[in-house]
Amino acid sequence: MNGIRRQQYLEEIGITVWLERKLVDKETADFNVKSISEKNKSFETELDKNLDHLSRQIETCKLCELHKSRTKTVFGIGNKNADWLVIGEAPGADEDLMGEPFVGRAGKLLNAMLLSMGLQRKEVFIANILKCRPPKNRDPKSDEVKVCENYLRQQIELIKPRIILALGRIAAQNLLKSTTPIGKMRGNSYLYPDSDLPVVVTYHPAYLLRSPSEKRKVWEDLKFAQNIFRGLA
Ligand code: URA
Repeated sequence: MNGIRRQQYLEEIGITVWLERKLVDKETADFNVKSISEKNKSFETELDKNLDHLSRQIETCKLCELHKSRTKTVFGIGNKNADWLVIGEAPGADEDLMGEPFVGRAGKLLNAMLLSMGLQRKEVFIANILKCRPPKNRDPKSDEVKVCENYLRQQIELIKPRIILALGRIAAQNLLKSTTPIGKMRGNSYLYPDSDLPVVVTYHPAYLLRSPSEKRKVWEDLKFAQNIFRGLA
């Protein structure tokens, strides 16, 4: 039993105990830190529980044909209380094997893009439009998107991000239910349907690997996204 608890118990039965000041301060601090982290733990547990439940649902999902060819589902990763939700297209070969989004070369570039905004990968939450890899990385089909967007909406409702960064045409057009070419979507802020959650669009890091000269445009988009974020109430 620590000194503070012992003192509380003794005081409750009417015995005054004098402790050395340094000891009291340290133990009070330890006690406070512990009770704060216990509170956080119980707060997180509810969110953890809901996200775990959703993740298990996705792991066993057979609502489209992609379940037949997937190795692992890719739920998403990162800070469950993130302000920034980064959304890509769908898992590729590496992601399908590891069950984590953006782990290949495009993932490394994404990490660098985030760092250029002062964000570490673990600070944001990263997910995809699809949770399963389309064979040979083909574009998602509309029925696949339809099933998976329900999962994504639930993730958004649980994580409650303050801004979405959509990576690439597939993410941007499917999130915003738009057919506008990505080049025309850049530089504007949109709202995720039926919400006041801002969505900013930029090129996909895999596209940047093929077209490095477009990096300047992405830097402009990231600065734009930061300005939108800073302007949020
Ligand atoms: N490309 C994506 O859009 N998502 C990933 O997770 C990996 C590559």
